[in-house]
Amino acid sequence: MGYMKEKVAYLRGLADGMEIGGDAQSKLLLAMIETMDEMAGTIDENEEAIIELDECIDDICDELSDIDECLDALVDDEGCDCCGEDFEDDFVEVECPHCGETVYFDQGMLESDEALICPNCNEPVIPKAGDEE
Ligand SMILES: [Zn+2]
Repeated sequence: MGYMKEKVAYLRGLADGMEIGGDAQSKLLLAMIETMDEMAGTIDENEEAIIELDECIDDICDELSDIDECLDALVDDEGCDCCGEDFEDDFVEVECPHCGETVYFDQGMLESDEALICPNCNEPVIPKAGDEE
């Protein structure tokens, strides 16, 4: 039971203890307690909803700060602690034998059978064997 509900339950208990009869004032008093009980229910529900929302917002804030750290790591071209990605190891530097330009390839691209195309001169690039472990 929520805090407000408890307060109204106490009032109801007091009213019961007074053994109030069926006169107009007693009816009004009981009707007021009834109304307060409904209001208390709504207030307690709202309070719970607010607490839930608050926790939700906390989670979102944590996520955002993780994303922020992740973005910082990307900008710094360093590994990311939060998502486990290590950007430094993912790219391999290759000098194009055709135009001499230094180009970068994803580790996954090197391991696949697909031909690597130099983005500078559009010629196929063959990375030197033994460069990578
Ligand atoms: Zn090239």
